[in-house]
Amino acid sequence: MPPDARNTTKSSGVTGQRVLILGAGPTGLGAAYRLKELGHDNFLVVDRHPYIGGLAHSFTDAQGFTWDIGGHVMFSHYKYYDRCFDTLMGDEYTLNNRESWVRMFNTWVPYPFQNNIRYLPKQAAFECIAGLVRAQSGKGRVPSPKAAQNFGEFIDAVFGDGIAEHFMRPYNYKVWAYPPERMNKQWIGERVAVIDVERALKNLVLGTDDFGWGPNNQFKFPLKGGTGEFYRRFGPHLGLDQQGRETQHSKVRLNTRVQTIDLDAKVVHFTDGSREPFDILISTMPLDRLCADVLTSQREAAALREVASDAAGLLHSGGYMVGIGLKSRTPGAGTPDTKSWMYFPEPNCPFYRVTYLSNYSPFMTPDKDNYYSLLCEVSESPVKPTPGDHGKNQDAVIDECITGLENAGLLEPGERANIVSRWCYYADYSYPTPSVERDDILSRVIPWLERRGVYSRGRFGMWKYEVANTDHSLMQGVELVNRLALGEAETTIGMVYSVTEDGRNAATHERPAHAGSGEKRLAAAIAEAKPEAGDIPAGPISKDELGAG
Ligand SMILES: Cc1cc2nc3c(=O)[nH]c(=O)nc-3n(C[C@H](O)[C@H](O)[C@H](O)COP(=O)(O)OP(=O)(O)OC[C@H]3O[C@@H](n4cnc5c(N)ncnc54)[C@H](O)[C@@H]3O)c2cc1C
Repeated sequence: MPPDARNTTKSSGVTGQRVLILGAGPTGLGAAYRLKELGHDNFLVVDRHPYIGGLAHSFTDAQGFTWDIGGHVMFSHYKYYDRCFDTLMGDEYTLNNRESWVRMFNTWVPYPFQNNIRYLPKQAAFECIAGLVRAQSGKGRVPSPKAAQNFGEFIDAVFGDGIAEHFMRPYNYKVWAYPPERMNKQWIGERVAVIDVERALKNLVLGTDDFGWGPNNQFKFPLKGGTGEFYRRFGPHLGLDQQGRETQHSKVRLNTRVQTIDLDAKVVHFTDGSREPFDILISTMPLDRLCADVLTSQREAAALREVASDAAGLLHSGGYMVGIGLKSRTPGAGTPDTKSWMYFPEPNCPFYRVTYLSNYSPFMTPDKDNYYSLLCEVSESPVKPTPGDHGKNQDAVIDECITGLENAGLLEPGERANIVSRWCYYADYSYPTPSVERDDILSRVIPWLERRGVYSRGRFGMWKYEVANTDHSLMQGVELVNRLALGEAETTIGMVYSVTEDGRNAATHERPAHAGSGEKRLAAAIAEAKPEAGDIPAGPISKDELGAG
């Protein structure tokens, strides 16, 4: 059964058009899958890697551990995405409780942080709650979220100086690798602004626990093969064989890197010397690189230089995903530790997040009874360098992570002797920073490209972190095809196109109803914004709105 059987007629808007899709990550796969579903066969997907899935790919190392590129948790906002998952995965998945914790003051604080302040030492708990009360009653350093000029001020206005100092600021700096003052506040959305102070106070005074997990807050994870298994299964629908190799019917070309795109002739040149013409180009590679390194035009050379210099103002961070595989039983006194992932705001470890990957499925290690695995994430940027030096010295980052795991209480003294796998993946583009300048840049660059038949979408194609999870990315591809083929509006990217005085298209931004992580527990809290029947609007606060997606 195709995910959307409603529109399986021949498409109109793309009829006779050659569609070239640059990148076989979730966005490119979503676009390709939807084109095929609509009966449009004149397309090709190209990727520089020997595999599909992009940043959502998974790797199995020589020791038999499976690793994702950072902890991937799927909280879908979309019925279409759910149907894709069901179609491709059937019942081959696990259902996991989202159990997340914050490591601070040598103890574990359950998430959500502000509801569990009682776990902190008394002085810190007092500072956090007093700051929260001041902020939420408009008496803080920044009087209101509306008055905040950037994400840093937004944190102060919403959470108060105590939570800001102890958790939000250090944690977010570790995640984003930029000071929160360089980030805008719009990517979070106004609804995050109201915190339930009474609930925070009640838990502190009465000593009640307020955990964010349980049966209403679960996520699916592929039974075998990690996150990437879901994306690998798009391959056979696009003519790859079961091993992910190309066949003569392939709609995907692997190991093929784009070198230049001639905008005048509408031809893509690859590094292997081959070329492909296009009418419509869907690009999912990083937007700044697309404009600066790849696009060429003789006719509009000056305008292109201007666009490239505009796009160069976009900020991003890189990241090291460090997998540590251990030959020992999952720790825990009596019962094994059931944590999903943990946040680390303190400077005694380099990572901002660690995922208990072996808890997601019994098939993530060589043998579930005798091995377990931890996946650490470390960010890097020009203002936050690491000894990894842009991926050149990954061993140094792995060493720091192991020491950090000891400092943070995840590895017991002597336990490093049980490490049997040290895995590392360096992503030079890991987080698209929602910088203060971002939306203005996108307003100019995206419409300029579109007028030339180039549609940039996806995590780094659209650069919108708030809609850059796997479900958003896949749907950016699907919705773009629906727009081109069927004339439907794109709802995920949160852009409103307009015609400016000089006759050029420009765009304004609004926060899409789908933004955020889509965790059901939180989504249930709001009754507003139902964009499409069955789709799930984001809740008022979520893990990735704290910068951890
Ligand atoms: C650390 C981390 C944690 C994450 N956690 C989560 C999570 O918990 N939940 C969730 O849903 N999502 C998560 N994500 C996001 C998820 O990985 C992305 O949403 C998704 O991979 C984006 O898909 P995409 O297709 O837009 O981009 P990508 O996956 O980056 O794919 C782009 C593709 O373009 C190709 N390409 C680039 N340049 C060229 C070139 N010159 N020539 C040919 N090909 C090229 C690349 O090889 C790549 O395959 C996380 C991502 C990271 C990095």
